[in-house]
Amino acid sequence: MKDPGRLLVTDPPALGRYGDFGGSYVPETVVPALGELVEEAKSALADQSFLDELSSLLRDYAGRPTPCYFAARLSEHAGFPIWLKREDLLHTGAHKLNNALGQLLLARRMGKHRIVAETGAGQHGLATATACALLGLPCVVYMGSEDIRRQAVNVAKMRLLGATVEAVDSGSRTLKDATSEAIRDWVTNVRDTHYVIGSVVGPHPYPWLVRTLQSVIGVEARQQMLAQAGRLPAQVVACVGGGSNAIGIFSGFLDDPEVRLLGVEAGGRGAGPGENGASLNLGSPGVLHGASSFLLQDQDGQVLPTHSVSAGLDYPGVGPEHAWLNSTGRATYCVVDDRQALAAFHLLSRLEGIIPALESSHAIHQAIGSRPDDGGPVLVCLSGRGDKDLDTVLTEAAGD
Ligand SMILES: *Cc1c(COP(=O)(O)O)cnc(C)c1O
Repeated sequence: MKDPGRLLVTDPPALGRYGDFGGSYVPETVVPALGELVEEAKSALADQSFLDELSSLLRDYAGRPTPCYFAARLSEHAGFPIWLKREDLLHTGAHKLNNALGQLLLARRMGKHRIVAETGAGQHGLATATACALLGLPCVVYMGSEDIRRQAVNVAKMRLLGATVEAVDSGSRTLKDATSEAIRDWVTNVRDTHYVIGSVVGPHPYPWLVRTLQSVIGVEARQQMLAQAGRLPAQVVACVGGGSNAIGIFSGFLDDPEVRLLGVEAGGRGAGPGENGASLNLGSPGVLHGASSFLLQDQDGQVLPTHSVSAGLDYPGVGPEHAWLNSTGRATYCVVDDRQALAAFHLLSRLEGIIPALESSHAIHQAIGSRPDDGGPVLVCLSGRGDKDLDTVLTEAAGD
């Protein structure tokens, strides 16, 4: 493939707004740092030497381009062609490294020598700790104590890579609380510290910056579909936690109106409060972690607890660009529950010899049930590999 590691670079949206969503609802002390980040990101993304350094790291270190693979046995099972964009084959096992490498190069360019990040399942913490080891920058990862208990292997890996993992004991002791704590650290140490957000959430410019860094997935996939399938996909399917792998792959096809874009949220155990992570389908407009979007909240605007069998989809908010794409109808969003995702996890393992992340398994379930009108190919973002989920899957199986 010519040009691996190429990004879709757009101007940041005016005032960071996507229609009614987005913006920047932050304490005064970080306003200058966010302004600096907008300007530095614009200048870096317009600088060929920055883009060349990033794309050579994405290629030689991370393993891009990732394959776009025709899943023959899964296609036979579904009754129409299904292609998998293999982000599970990226170094560290998920798409998160695309963003972490880009933000770390940007932090270094800005002269910020200390890195903080939040993590839920540990995949973003792992990607950030990896990129920090690569560039020799100190790294503090905030993680809920409940998640530390559930994700011991990723915690051990982050520590091996030299990162400090800070346990967060407030609230539900999960991702939402870790994010609040990382923001608090950043607000206090903003002069020398860069905060690496792991998804297309948070205040402007993060949703735009993370989307740009993940657009490499969609740029590659569009080229690969044209070259290998001889046409664009009829439909693109991706799971949505904060929404970074989804917006990354969608961004390659947004200007192709004939391509349907389908996001899949976590249905968890049901539609009741606290039982799922389906912010767009079951939430309402509100402000969380510095941006206006859809979120799961009670009548007083308090954020609800969430549940999903996949830790990466277990988040009460969603990126503002998805809220906007949902409101305009350019993309649609549906819900797949724990049981369906687990079944798809087993199905892909048996049919293709690929053990998918439980997050990605949500997209697989939706894809095989969504036959396009023209019977044309469906492209799925396989956002990560499932090694991290084996304990969960074995426990769930024992529980049945
Ligand atoms: C973190 C993660 C997700 C969810 O994050 P998005 O920002 O919605 O992409 C999905 N899949 C995997 C494998 C992850 O690690």
